[in-house]
Amino acid sequence: MSIVSNSLKRIKPSPTIAVTQKAKEMRDAGKDIIALGAGEPDFDTPDNIKQAAIAAINRGDTKYTAVDGTPILKKAIQAKFLRENNLKFELDEITVGTGGKQVLYNAFMATINKGDEVIIPAPYWVSYPDMVLLAGGKPKIVKCHEEDEFKLTPQLLKKAISKKTKWLILNSPSNPTGACYSKKEIEALAEVLKKNKQIYILSDDIYEHITFDNFKFYTIAQINELKNRTLTMNGVSKSYSMTGWRIGYAAGPKEIIKAIAKIQSQSTTNPSSISQAAAVEALNGTQDFIKTRANSFKERRDFVVKELNNIKGLSCLNPNGAFYVFPNCKKLLGKKTKLKTDTNFVEKLLENTGVAVVQGSAFGLDGYFRISYATSMENLKKALSRIKSFCEKTI
Ligand code: PLP
Repeated sequence: MSIVSNSLKRIKPSPTIAVTQKAKEMRDAGKDIIALGAGEPDFDTPDNIKQAAIAAINRGDTKYTAVDGTPILKKAIQAKFLRENNLKFELDEITVGTGGKQVLYNAFMATINKGDEVIIPAPYWVSYPDMVLLAGGKPKIVKCHEEDEFKLTPQLLKKAISKKTKWLILNSPSNPTGACYSKKEIEALAEVLKKNKQIYILSDDIYEHITFDNFKFYTIAQINELKNRTLTMNGVSKSYSMTGWRIGYAAGPKEIIKAIAKIQSQSTTNPSSISQAAAVEALNGTQDFIKTRANSFKERRDFVVKELNNIKGLSCLNPNGAFYVFPNCKKLLGKKTKLKTDTNFVEKLLENTGVAVVQGSAFGLDGYFRISYATSMENLKKALSRIKSFCEKTI
């Protein structure tokens, strides 16, 4: 009998990490690899934030803190929600964890009973279904359509709801598609949710600051009637290029916030005291670079989308946010090309050209692949030219 628990058998390792690992092995073996698989900005953490961390070390902020965040960081988060989202939260409606990932994990562990259903629109961020499974819940995957920019519609939502639905996860801007829900689209979903009062909403806003084309970010907790059953998750990883610092947070109903702290108190305790001090500076300090960085991402998105749409066999929407695109490669799959699935496509692309991307099926939607364009223009130019010659040879 295996030492490994039954609950662990329900889940698989993150497929995005698997691709990054394979690309790394090929690079270590001397191959010329361009990795477009990573989910993190290529920019460095801004200097004022680094200096705040150094000051924290020198000050002796090197001890345990309150389990779910220092009061000063909670105040900075409270101010952020008011300043940027017009949302008022008390300090005991806010929790801080070791990355947005831990906050989500704790939220599911704290609220899901065996058999509870969680509606997850696909394509989805890879960790949602596995976290739900680990917590004993049932992911209810709802495949969204390219024609709807891969977004959940009120009709699809209505169909997915059952008596057992506990949570709906919304993620805008989206990983893996970059799609952003407008205020109107969120309001339309809200109409369905207002009628289904047992459902809680988990809004994953981690890419809030990476939007383009004057897109106006809107989050579902801004709808008064839904605020008391929405947990809004956000963090400093993507907005402030702080993926390695591991600070994420959420705000929502006290009961959930308290339950999250209970789990955290018996698992990891507080997130790093030094990272928390850095996050205070990220949220309270200058926000100027956010716009500059978003502009760089926009320039790259423009380039990548244009090039992809010039490649025979591929087509790609032009999303308003994050640093991902989700091109359609269905025309390259089939008997003629000998590529049966998007996974075959991605594997052959990596083997033949050294370009690492992630197959759409890893995100719950076949026939697509995800490109992360959080890398230099030079890399993107090389990668797109390799993808083009690979596709043209294949078709
Ligand atoms: N949510 C989404 C959609 C993500 O893409 C990520 C990271 O890739 C996270 C949450 C977690 O971010 P972190 O744990 O780095 O704060």
